[in-house]
Amino acid sequence: MDIRRDPVTQSWVVTGYRENLAEPGGVCPLCSSLAGQPPASLSGPEQGPGQVRVIPHTDPIYRAESGLERKAEGIYDKMARAGAHEIIVETPQHDRPMSRFSDEEIEQVLWAAAQRIAELKKDPRFKYVTVFKNQGLLAGEEWPHAHSQLTATTFVPRRVKYELRSARQWFQEKDRCVFCDIVRQEEKSGQRIVDVQGEYYALCPYASRVPYEIWVLHRRHNHAFEHPRPGAKRRNLAALLGRTLRRLEKFAPAFHMVIHTAPNSLSRKGEMAGYWKTLADDYHWHIEILPIVQPRSLSYGIKEVYVNPVLPEQAAEFLRGLDATS
Ligand SMILES: [Zn+2]
Ligand SMILES: [Zn+2]
Ligand SMILES: [Zn+2]
Repeated sequence: MDIRRDPVTQSWVVTGYRENLAEPGGVCPLCSSLAGQPPASLSGPEQGPGQVRVIPHTDPIYRAESGLERKAEGIYDKMARAGAHEIIVETPQHDRPMSRFSDEEIEQVLWAAAQRIAELKKDPRFKYVTVFKNQGLLAGEEWPHAHSQLTATTFVPRRVKYELRSARQWFQEKDRCVFCDIVRQEEKSGQRIVDVQGEYYALCPYASRVPYEIWVLHRRHNHAFEHPRPGAKRRNLAALLGRTLRRLEKFAPAFHMVIHTAPNSLSRKGEMAGYWKTLADDYHWHIEILPIVQPRSLSYGIKEVYVNPVLPEQAAEFLRGLDATS
């Protein structure tokens, strides 16, 4: 298995990794009753249905023990699998999706993600920490047991790099954060807002890539998800996420969810050199949710141009009309 760089787009691509999908009916490696569990890098509270544990991935793409060396192959560039790959086991209960969690339990998952991102960012080798959740077979979920995954990589993933570049450019031109500008315009028009809780918004982005795409943002500026602003009530974010997932569950069999936070500003070499000076002002953490409602959405990652049959304004109206309480 290699991580290779496409010299044309400069994207890093993991090649030769076969996802170790659970055998149907096999033993669930995320059930904590299983003997020989690897020690958790984080766990809390002590016990109960709201317990969240963070454990190493059973078949990691990235490994802490891999060297950092990059190797040239003629004009090409590849690197070792250095990094970290962990699983956030969101509940000890095998068959309870996140949409059924209490607000407090979702807040606990957000807390665990933030703790691990902050911890892994102490290592200057890691340029980026990603937390994502694939729920449902169509989204490529590895186990049915509620979980998220966390990867720390020695490169910044392509989509985030694009966002960082655009956010920096927007800031250079207007002296404002693009995400703050989005929130201001959306709260004024209200058309694409799905739900609000405290200072958190769930909205269908103006140029949604897939039907019913949702972004969750805090209306106050902050670049790093793992360091909440003083007074940022994460319980509100948890409540909003819970309601959003309950809406989605009514019609979408699967979804991808990813936390986009700032890259590691301890790492100021190479591709990161230009970002960090205005990073805290120009970038704004957010959560992206990409539901899968039809087979053709599956190809969203490889499309050159996204073709979305549902207008985001109509999507938001539809989503607002769904019962988010059950
Ligand atoms: Zn399980
Ligand atoms: Zn902002
Ligand atoms: Zn994003």
